[in-house]
Parts: sequence; C-alpha cells; structure tokens
Amino acid sequence: MSRFWSSTVRGLTPYVPGEQPKNSNLIKLNTNENPYGPSPKVLDALRTEVASTLRLYPDPQAEDLKHAVAQYYGISPRQVFPANGSDEALGHTFQGLLKHTKPILFPDITYSFYPVYCGLYDIAYETVPLTASFEIDIAAYRRPNGGIIFANPNAPTGRLLPIGAVAELLTQNTDAVVVVDEAYIDFGGESAVPLVARFHNLLVIQTLSKSRSLAGLRVGFAVGHEDLITALERVKNSFNSYPLGRLAIAGAVAAMNDREHFEETRQAVIRTREVLTAGLRGMGFEVLPSAANFIFARHPEWDAAALSGRLREKGILVRHFTGKRIDQFLRITVGTDEAAVLLCRALERIIGA
Ligand SMILES: *Cc1c(COP(=O)(O)O)cnc(C)c1O
Repeated sequence: MSRFWSSTVRGLTPYVPGEQPKNSNLIKLNTNENPYGPSPKVLDALRTEVASTLRLYPDPQAEDLKHAVAQYYGISPRQVFPANGSDEALGHTFQGLLKHTKPILFPDITYSFYPVYCGLYDIAYETVPLTASFEIDIAAYRRPNGGIIFANPNAPTGRLLPIGAVAELLTQNTDAVVVVDEAYIDFGGESAVPLVARFHNLLVIQTLSKSRSLAGLRVGFAVGHEDLITALERVKNSFNSYPLGRLAIAGAVAAMNDREHFEETRQAVIRTREVLTAGLRGMGFEVLPSAANFIFARHPEWDAAALSGRLREKGILVRHFTGKRIDQFLRITVGTDEAAVLLCRALERIIGA
C-alpha cells in the first residue's frame, strides 16, 4: 500500500495467473496452454509482417481479422470485435454491457477473473451454485439480473452446457445480455455463435490462446449483434485505439485460415484427454467429464494441495485452487501423450508410496 494509490487501486483484488516458471525443465500442465505449436502458416505470416511495416501503426479496427473470423463462422465482420486476448474482450464487456443496476449472475465456480472485473468496474453480482455434479442449472438463472456470464465448457470444471440448454437459457433471459465465454469450446462443444442471429442479447467470446496455440500472441474476440459490438468498440476507442499490433493481427488471421492444423491438433488433444482420463480413473481418481483441454480430478484419499506439491517436486506443474467445493481437485492441462504418461507414472509413485 502506498499513499500514492487511488482509492480504486486500494480496493482491488487482482486476478492471479498460473505460474510461468523460468525453469523450462518443468512439465507445464498448469495454464491450459496447447502442447502443439501454432500453425506453421502463422509463423510465415509473422515473418512477412516483421519484414514489412512495423514502423507504422496497425489497423485500429483489425478489419482483416474481423473478416477472417466472420468467414470462419459465416457471419458478418460487423458482428466481430477483436481484442488483445479474450480477457480484454471480457473486460470491455463487463464495463460496456454488464454494468447495470441489477446484479449480474455467474456460477459459484467459474473463471475467477469475473469477480475481479466486477471489483474493477464496481458491478454488483450474485453467484449461482453449480449442481452437486458441477453442472450449470439454467432454471436457477430465472431471476431478475443485469446480465449473465459463464464459461462453456466451464472452468475449472471442464463441464459442458449442451447447446440446447444455452438456447433455452437465452429464451428465458431476453432482457439482459448473456455472455458465453467459449475459451475451450473447440475441445468438445458446439459453439453458440450461430445463435447470435436469433438472440440479439447473446455475446460469445473466444480466444486464440488455447485451441489455436497462440497464448503468447494475445488475441481473442467477441461475436454478437452489431449493437453489442458497437458498445465494445466505444469502450475500446475510449481506452486504447490499437489493442492488436501488426504481428497479432497477421498471426491471428493466418491461424483462423488454417483449418487443417487446427483440426489435427485439437483432435490430438481430445484423444490424449480420453487416455489421461482413463489412466487417472484407473488410479482411483474421480475425473469430471471434460469437454476442455484440461481435466478436473480428485482422489478420495489424497489431499489435493499435498498432491500438487509432490508433483512439483517431481517437476510437474498442475493447478490447485483453494475455493470452496473445489479445494480437493487438481486442474490438469492435457499436454502431449508423453506428458500424460509421465504424469501418470509420477502419480502412481506418489500414491503407491
Ligand atoms: C484462458 C481463458 C481466458 C483468457 O484467454 P486469453 O485470450 O488468453 O486472455 C478467458 N476465459 C477463460 C475461461 C479462460 O480459461
């Protein structure tokens, strides 16, 4: 605390990202990064961009990226808002579309950045409990609200709300914006993007960090009715006119256009997830059904914090959250097949010892 801090800064409770260790010998299964590199076409696009025009400011609207996303989903570029990571799209959404008199609603267990944005922008919220099996119960969202936001598949549970239920939630909530954070949708769910045509209060947010393996480039986007996109652009143009650099735009366009690499690598992650799930269940872990590139698992006889610590000693990083109801779970990123084998071997030694 310093006397120079504003009262806003004094009141903040910032988000804590997963560890990014300096020591690269560790097997990193803690921040849901993609184990496969981005498309080689992305690297080509970056090289070309470096060779050309870094002297000049980028296109403030990132029109090329709007078009690439629009083409991918068969929508209009005017329905797309590119951002510096989906976290930025989320931040602008909280400020521009979710700040009203009534409290917004989100699950008691979900992406822990949501309450942080509420703190930053002074937004009232109420949490809605997931069911005992960690599923979203859409009936519980039938109450007055200033908006609804959830991750689908949810984080850190990995559980998917089927697209039919998303549509039903939208049908019962027409008076406020419903935001679906689809950071992990490509690993096992059906995107709500096609519902944007029918529900003008739906905003879908996606990232290139996970399924397109570009966490280091910082690109995400929101898709929704033009009126919602205009709100986000008004916030953006009052904050930072150039959130995406030339490299980010060029790389993201190439990533959206290379469907083959995307398909291959996401299928590989899905296959490894199933192998890893079976392996952990074989050791007595309870593993929630996951539609994401991570799994959420607990062992009835082993304390999660202790397990996480023992794994770290063996050079394997996983994520442990201390929140209510989930403090006995580990969130484990699905890496390569080799990483899955090493993880299972390490756990067998710990648990067998
Ligand atoms: C990773 C993640 C994000 C943030 O993604 P970036 O585009 O890297 O900012 C947003 N929401 C959820 C649920 C995530 O897991």
